Amino acid sequence: MSPVEERLQQNLALVRQRIDSACRRAARDPALVGLVAVTKYAHVDWIASLARLGVHTFGENRPQQLVERAALWPGDDWHLIGQLQRNKVRSVLPHNPLIQSVDSLRLLRRISDVSGELQRRTRVLLQVNVSGEASKQGISPVELLQTWPLFESTPNVIIMGLMTMAPLAEDPEDARPTFRGLRELRDELRALPGEPRLPPILSMGMSHDMEVAIEEGATLVRIGSALFDGLS
Ligand SMILES: *Cc1c(COP(=O)(O)O)cnc(C)c1O
Repeated sequence: MSPVEERLQQNLALVRQRIDSACRRAARDPALVGLVAVTKYAHVDWIASLARLGVHTFGENRPQQLVERAALWPGDDWHLIGQLQRNKVRSVLPHNPLIQSVDSLRLLRRISDVSGELQRRTRVLLQVNVSGEASKQGISPVELLQTWPLFESTPNVIIMGLMTMAPLAEDPEDARPTFRGLRELRDELRALPGEPRLPPILSMGMSHDMEVAIEEGATLVRIGSALFDGLS
């Protein structure tokens, strides 16, 4: 094993330990917390190493980089976690991504239209701006609750859950209200009358606040810097 791959193996083990101990504290099953390796700053050979180490879910924040890398590892699961312009939708859909960053009904409808043309169904998460910061992408919780039927009835897409980003903060505890808010919103959406219901995915938590996110119910954590620590 190369020194780089050894380091990745150690980092991965540490991340898994952190996930496991957070799950233990929260009395949750670690099998229900998925890891998305965020490779936006990673070399392609690090991705190859991670794949050899058994990681098969990757997140990219730029559509173009997702397209290039998903073409190299077409069997793996690629998630788009950054902003998607409507004119880029057509280029990413053939790679069967899970688009975590759907931040408007307009974008969802565009994904729906192109998915229909391509005769596929596209998996998405709705990105929610729980904290209300003006600088953050995402649908407001109130708007999502009020217009849920419009989202829910959009064809050719599978809404698998919700995603959020916490405000930047030194103390991971500061992220807790945001993560809790996303979980409560998910529960409110699931309690609305009628079928089908919103599936339960909650994508929240990054390298420095994954424990808090798991305690608040994350089912996917998006981890970049903790995996690539010590590599350059
Ligand atoms: C970069 C990024 C991450 C990973 O952040 P780290 O702090 O490096 O773990 C997670 N989610 C999104 C949307 C990102 O852009």
